Amino acid sequence: MNIGEAARKLGVDPAALCPASAEPRFTEVWERMRQGPPCSACGQPSRTSGVVHDPVHGPRWLDRRRDCFLATPAILRQPLSQAVMNIREAAAEVGLRAVLHTDEDGWQDELRG
Ligand SMILES: [Zn+2]
Repeated sequence: MNIGEAARKLGVDPAALCPASAEPRFTEVWERMRQGPPCSACGQPSRTSGVVHDPVHGPRWLDRRRDCFLATPAILRQPLSQAVMNIREAAAEVGLRAVLHTDEDGWQDELRG
């Protein structure tokens, strides 16, 4: 599901979310996640952040803790290998080394970037 569908599934009111850039750079998203805002759905410390594009309220941050994130899985719009490469590039952009685990082979492969 996309992030808007995730917000609806979690019962999040877009009006209650913080305004965000329409298309934030990864560094903005990373900084948001580093701040650890409360989960938009349950109020527990969040682990992921993304932007919901609400037609009435505009772009808003949707922050999710692990369980809320896993309850609203994303659909990849590109091959997994491309997504992994994009994540590696984004991590390198902020000076991090990415160690990624995928489920292509039953969560047994580790892809190092
Ligand atoms: Zn939550």
